[in-house]
Amino acid sequence: MTRVLYVAGTGRSGSTLTAAMLGQLRGAFAAGEMLYLWQRGLAERRPCGCGTPVPECPVWTDIRTAPSARASVTAAVPLDQLDRVEPAALHARLRARLRLRRLPLFLWRRATGRPPVPPHPADDAVLAALYRTIAARTGADVVIDSSKLPPYGALVGALPGVEVKVLHLVRDPRATAFSWRRTRGLDGAADPTAMDRPSPLRAAVLWLAWNAAARLFWRGDAYLRVRYEDLCADPGGTVRRVATFAGLPTGPLPFAAPGVIQLGPTHTVAGNPSRHRTGAVAVVADDEWRTGLGRRAFVLVTLVTAPLLRLCGYRVRR
Ligand SMILES: [Zn+2]
Repeated sequence: MTRVLYVAGTGRSGSTLTAAMLGQLRGAFAAGEMLYLWQRGLAERRPCGCGTPVPECPVWTDIRTAPSARASVTAAVPLDQLDRVEPAALHARLRARLRLRRLPLFLWRRATGRPPVPPHPADDAVLAALYRTIAARTGADVVIDSSKLPPYGALVGALPGVEVKVLHLVRDPRATAFSWRRTRGLDGAADPTAMDRPSPLRAAVLWLAWNAAARLFWRGDAYLRVRYEDLCADPGGTVRRVATFAGLPTGPLPFAAPGVIQLGPTHTVAGNPSRHRTGAVAVVADDEWRTGLGRRAFVLVTLVTAPLLRLCGYRVRR
């Protein structure tokens, strides 16, 4: 069994930092947002966490060309090597399978005891081979996938030979809506492509939909919900709690000082530009939204997300 820790949630919830912290633990490999490996990493040649374009990164080249990737050959799936896969086409099929408007279908399938996302045997064999090969080539006990999108986590959890534990990260939706409004290059300042900037309404709808989905898809021993605010208040304690949940060794933790984590380079594909940060990184709550978010946006986001706001432990008032 290949063990995957899947970080679920919505954008701007601290998933990049959380995955980077967990990736410093012995036995963990922070792979980044695996959902975007094919399009952003391989087709668009965006940089890996190590700074090299993903197709040239030695770690990912080794994974993609590894002989162990061929072990996925089955009668139905004539897959030789992962690097034979056409990345853009696979990404397009994944996108079509994971659309937001299919959420009622996913929930209905979950309620009737089936994997939420309908299977696609050929692509699922490729993905199963990918996770298995990452674990084999990096020697990791746990592969950390911070793709966030709950339906993709459900898809990964249904792959043959893959066992998923889900870390559901939530953050105050008013903070995420505010954070989305800041322009940011997809891969740092040098990148002219800005990340998506949804309006406060769209940010609120996505927050509600995906956090509700995460709560409905998973429960029990394979599910842990953590608030971004609690992570920032006690990074050491929270990382230990998540490590124990994921079956990773809890010490020694790479903290340079209380609240300051020592980050080594990662090989994360796709994600927030902050994944390129290394060295001592302070884990501090970004609460500029409390003064920066306009009154209209605050009321709108609060109303839309109200069904889940209190359940996740957030106050309705500012
Ligand atoms: Zn790399």
